[in-house]
Amino acid sequence: MIAALVNRILPFSSVDGPGNRTVFFLQGCNFNCGYCHNPETIHVCNNCGACVSACPTGAIRLVEGKVTYQRSVCCACDACLRACPRDASPKVDVMQPEQALGILSGNLPFIRGITVSGGECTLQRDFVLALFRGAKQMGLGTLLDSNGNYDFEQDEELLSVCDGVMLDVKCADPDAHRTLTEQSNELVLKNLAFLASIGKLEEVRTVVVPGVLPNEDTVRQVCAVLAPYWAAGAPIGYKLIRFRPLGVREGFRSVPVPNDESMEHLRGIALQAGCANVSIL
Ligand code: SF4
Ligand code: SF4
Repeated sequence: MIAALVNRILPFSSVDGPGNRTVFFLQGCNFNCGYCHNPETIHVCNNCGACVSACPTGAIRLVEGKVTYQRSVCCACDACLRACPRDASPKVDVMQPEQALGILSGNLPFIRGITVSGGECTLQRDFVLALFRGAKQMGLGTLLDSNGNYDFEQDEELLSVCDGVMLDVKCADPDAHRTLTEQSNELVLKNLAFLASIGKLEEVRTVVVPGVLPNEDTVRQVCAVLAPYWAAGAPIGYKLIRFRPLGVREGFRSVPVPNDESMEHLRGIALQAGCANVSIL
C-alpha cells in the first residue's frame, strides 16, 4: 500500500507555481538547514510521547505506543511543536494517493494544478508518482518543489508525469552548502543543469542570507548554468528569497534580513544574465 506522511494541505495557493493550485506539504527532509523556517517538517515523529501532555485540547494521544492526531479538535496553538525535542510534528496525516485525489477532485473547479512540496517530497516518491498520475488524468498541471537532493535523471517515470521542478539552489559552494544543510550539493547542481536541459526546470529559488552564505557567488553560478537556456527563450524563473528569522532555530535568530540594495544587486546579476523572470520575495 502506498501512503505518505502529509504535514499540511493548502487547498488554494497562488504563490506555489502558476495559477491557483492545491499544495501538499509532505513530512520529512534529507537536509537539515539551519535557516529552515518550518523545522518541524524535517524529521519524522518517533512516538516518544513528549508532546502529548503539552496539547491543551487532547488532539494528540499515545495509543499503543503510537502518537495519534485528531485534526478536528486541534486549536493550532503549536504547543506540541515547541515541546518536540527532534524537530518533528505529531500533526501529520497518513494519506493514500486515492484520498489525496479525492481532495483534489473537490477543488477541481477552482485550480489549474497541484504542487507537491515538503519537507522533501521526493523522499515519498511513490506517493508523488501516484498523485501526479491521477492529477494528470484530471487535466491538472503538476509541479514538484524540491531541495534537489534526488537524482532526477534516474527517474524518467516520475518526470513523465511532472511538468516541472521548482529547485532550491541554496548554495553553490560545496563547503558552505554542507555547513548549512549537513549534505552535499552535488546532486543539486547536477539537477540544475539536467532539468534545464530537458525543459523541466520551472524555477530556481535561492534564499539570501547576509553574512552567512556566499549569496552572490551562488547567484552567479546559477546564472552561468542557465544563461544559454534563457538566451534560447526558456521561461525558467529565478526567485530570490529574503532570509527572515521567523520560525528559525537558535543559530539563525539574530541573522539580519538582507536590505533592498543587496537584493536588487542580485536581481541585476540575473537580469544581466538573461533571466526575464526574476522575482524578489
Ligand atoms: S497545535 Fe498541537 S498542542 Fe495545539 S491543539 Fe493542536 S495538536 Fe494540540
Ligand atoms: S512529535 Fe515529537 S514530541 Fe511528539 S511524539 Fe513525535 S517525536 Fe515525540
